[in-house]
Amino acid sequence: MPQTLMKGMLHCALEKNKIAMTTLPQKSDNPKLGLVIDLDVCVGCHACAVNCKEWNAGGHSGPLTDWNAYSGSEKHNGRDDGAWGVWFNRIHSYEVSENEDSHTVHFPRSCLHCEEPACVTVCPTGASYKREEDGIVLVNADTCIGCKLCSWACPYGAREYDHTDGVMKKCTLCIDRIYNENLEEIDRVPACVSTCPTNARHFGDLNDPNSAVSKLVEDRGGYDLMPEMGYSPTNKYLPPRARGKSDNPDQKLNVEASKTDQESKQIPESNQDLQIKNPLLRWVDVVLSR
Ligand code: SF4
Ligand code: SF4
Repeated sequence: MPQTLMKGMLHCALEKNKIAMTTLPQKSDNPKLGLVIDLDVCVGCHACAVNCKEWNAGGHSGPLTDWNAYSGSEKHNGRDDGAWGVWFNRIHSYEVSENEDSHTVHFPRSCLHCEEPACVTVCPTGASYKREEDGIVLVNADTCIGCKLCSWACPYGAREYDHTDGVMKKCTLCIDRIYNENLEEIDRVPACVSTCPTNARHFGDLNDPNSAVSKLVEDRGGYDLMPEMGYSPTNKYLPPRARGKSDNPDQKLNVEASKTDQESKQIPESNQDLQIKNPLLRWVDVVLSR
């Protein structure tokens, strides 16, 4: 059965029956720690992904296994997919137009530490859980049985199964950095944030309207990824700013708007109010929904 169909069926079943194998913490005024990612300035250099892999290869979630690291000699699931392994942060680069004004958008993807994460509520052992004190979603490797239900439930593809350890792994928001008193205070941020050369990644409390990240989201029209899924992601994306005249932004955005308008019509009427106004983000939303 195609994965998208399976995911859709799982989501519908959970929504319809309100089944929760593992419960979520009560809503509170506690901090909601998360990332704000600026798609306007991300240059797709992968520095964040590499530093994430480097930091998390040890500590809370390590090791992060690699398969076929040098490519060409081993097969993974019967195919030679080249080098492959566990990464908590992956960068996807998309061409957003086909005409002469086309440009590339780099889209970092990791766990969004959702407020309503079905990856937690489907977990049969309680290994997946959301922390009450800061909203971080984690996996307890000691109780994970590797059933992969959480990865089916995550619409963002943010779960990473470690075939060697037989357990699910995921972004921890670098929990072993952000509270680590052995580090200088300036370094108590996720590894991806500390390394980004363009300052495209920001970390903070998104439950505090006065925090720097909340103000950034407000000023720049920060955006929830796939809000129609109802997972209420904590992480936000900042849309690319309109380009100068020489880039002919109106034409570019109109091309994307016309490409996605047809697809956005497929959104059920009940979700019409959740449609995304920015054409480029609407396009990213459609691509990730496939
Ligand atoms: Fe769970 Fe996926 Fe949301 Fe992360 S992004 S909390 S793995 S549903
Ligand atoms: Fe984008 Fe910054 Fe990650 Fe580079 S380090 S891919 S610029 S988010």
